[in-house]
Amino acid sequence: MDTTRPSNIVIVGAGIAGIACALSLSKELTPFVPDLKITVYERHDILSTSGGAINLTPVAQRHLAQLGVLDELNRMGPEGGADVDAIELFSMRSGRPIGSINFTDHNGNGFGGYKGRRVMRIILSVAMLTVVERTKNVEIVFGKKVVGGEEFDDRTVLRFQDGTEASGDLVIGCDGVHSAVRTQFVDVGQPAEYTGLSFMQATIDTSSLSSPLHFKSSSLNISRHGSVLASYCDRDGDQIFAAAIVQFSQEGLSRHRLEPGQDWATQHRIRCALREEIRDRFGKCAIPCIREMINSKADWMLYPVYQVRPGGRWCLNRTILLGDAAHAMPPRDESAAYALDDAILFSRILARYRSEPLAEVFDAYESLRRDTINRAFKESRRMWERNREMGLFEGRLKEWMMAFHIKTHESEREAAWEFDATKMALPTPAPSEDLVSLNSFLRDRTL
Ligand SMILES: Cc1cc2nc3c(=O)[nH]c(=O)nc-3n(C[C@H](O)[C@H](O)[C@H](O)COP(=O)(O)OP(=O)(O)OC[C@H]3O[C@@H](n4cnc5c(N)ncnc54)[C@H](O)[C@@H]3O)c2cc1C
Repeated sequence: MDTTRPSNIVIVGAGIAGIACALSLSKELTPFVPDLKITVYERHDILSTSGGAINLTPVAQRHLAQLGVLDELNRMGPEGGADVDAIELFSMRSGRPIGSINFTDHNGNGFGGYKGRRVMRIILSVAMLTVVERTKNVEIVFGKKVVGGEEFDDRTVLRFQDGTEASGDLVIGCDGVHSAVRTQFVDVGQPAEYTGLSFMQATIDTSSLSSPLHFKSSSLNISRHGSVLASYCDRDGDQIFAAAIVQFSQEGLSRHRLEPGQDWATQHRIRCALREEIRDRFGKCAIPCIREMINSKADWMLYPVYQVRPGGRWCLNRTILLGDAAHAMPPRDESAAYALDDAILFSRILARYRSEPLAEVFDAYESLRRDTINRAFKESRRMWERNREMGLFEGRLKEWMMAFHIKTHESEREAAWEFDATKMALPTPAPSEDLVSLNSFLRDRTL
């Protein structure tokens, strides 16, 4: 039985899950593992600037605060993101408000001190890397794309596209929805599947709009053709992040994606086609500022949304998947929070089970996480179905149902905002046979 505590830990992917996991492992294991070494391998040569903005829930902010990342974001000034007290919902048909998802309580305070925040992904990545730089025993190596791997008795070996290899006594796949760690060796035959829905995203200068804005910090505007999110993404409100969530055929994807290496004419054709797509769907919106954004000359980018069905394998003997690599669900505001929860819970379990075999660590983690993830996946699928193209009557029903759903689930949602992965009760390792016999020996002696 292998009871070696891992000291050479390899993480694949420097996204939210990967960096959070490195920081959290360093925090939890450093007191117990003096020679701890954590290496993160990232396929990009430098940080990726794509991806637009992300909304962080109170849970995500709480966990980023515990990892020291929130302080870094706050130090960045206005660029560190816009506070989101609530996502206000509106009907694009009538312009009327439908309800709101509140990140504050009735007194205007955040849950456990945290509200929501909308921040550009690149800014969040910079804040996370700044914390990594001052964390001893964590190193990030860029330009290392994993293409395969194999487990041996005492280690997992990863193969990179450049022909080199690396090994760790524990490997954590945090390489996102199309994870090579998952598809190449942990769960071969479990590729991500396209949900049929995509984001079309753009960043728009607030000063370029002449119509008044109908929201305070963040809005979700719904119609029977999908939804349009419009939200400030910096504290001064200079920039608006706009994202349309729409049904988009798989065949249409390749014709609408901007890729590196495309010539100017192709890029121009794709940009025009995306503007046309978005105008066709939302050009008649009853809300003036949304109509203006939709009809603007903004450059929209297409992001197809993929999912990894729950129920797949998450681990082998020395390798485990966390974050989207294990369970990418159609994104809701909570998706990044699930990746952060994974990282913190796994690190805490590894520290508590540090004298146990990895198989027990993995079992304990799965027993804590599976049900939560399965439920979250189901709920996000249900919510995403509402963004499919609908008929007139169904569209009206959707508006009504949305208002009803938001109201009836308010207290459940607010209770969830209080979740703290650093306080969640963990299972306790079963006493080893040696300890059981020692205990009975001592008991017999005292009788
Ligand atoms: C369009 C869109 C909008 C979203 N909006 C929100 C939102 O508003 N709020 C929210 O909470 N969530 C949102 N999400 C979901 C959220 O982005 C993910 O849940 C979160 O990023 C998952 O983090 P991760 O670290 O698991 O994966 P990722 O963030 O995808 O990171 C994976 C990392 O691994 C690297 N990598 C990939 N393959 C390899 C390889 N072979 N070798 C080495 N490195 C590799 C990647 O370059 C990347 O750095 C959204 C998702 C999408 C698609």
